[in-house]
Amino acid sequence: MKMLEKTPINASWLGSHEYCEWKWYLENVLKEKVPITQSMIVGKNIHQEKEDKFKEVAVPTTPEEFLKSKVYTITKEMYLKEEFDDFILKGKIDELGVDTNNLYVIDDKPRAKPYLGVKRQIWAYCILIKEFVNKNYPEHSNKKVLAILRDRDSNVEIWKEEFNEENLNEVFSVINRMLLLFKKEINPEHNNYSYKCKACVLHKKNQLLSHLIKA
Ligand code: SF4
Repeated sequence: MKMLEKTPINASWLGSHEYCEWKWYLENVLKEKVPITQSMIVGKNIHQEKEDKFKEVAVPTTPEEFLKSKVYTITKEMYLKEEFDDFILKGKIDELGVDTNNLYVIDDKPRAKPYLGVKRQIWAYCILIKEFVNKNYPEHSNKKVLAILRDRDSNVEIWKEEFNEENLNEVFSVINRMLLLFKKEINPEHNNYSYKCKACVLHKKNQLLSHLIKA
């Protein structure tokens, strides 16, 4: 019951919030319907195909055995949820790798570029996996956590950095802002980049005329 009182925060919101707070607010606080685009459908299908192929060759194991791996081993589509003081962070890691000393948190994106929002999203996954390991398998908590962005289509790693305390604080500070927006204690800001608006599905559908006129 206590869990339900807390605001659920999706790790992927860290990316969409950075793209445009207004768009994020409309979708997630005001719950406006956002049109589903062709690229969303294609992206979902590609993800599913990759997961199905992985399942064909994957060997079932336990988290404990996985974390004990000495040679590089991966798992895919890992759902995690963690309760904090006033929110619940949730997310699905595309791929998690492990070896003796490291955990590799990998996110696949089409036309991957290390935008700030993308990094924040991956840092949110790093927080989730760190909490999961610290709580359940503390003997592996000394492993370094590496945040990795990979291009979905070429499989090339585009960005890779060790996750640190500063990254954690940055994610928590954005989540605090989201919580204030949910409580309507502050107003959302629209972005100032016309190229983002040109690509925005809401802009294309003319659904945001009012806020664009105000802007
Ligand atoms: S049109 Fe621009 S300001 Fe409006 S929601 Fe889309 S990206 Fe944000």
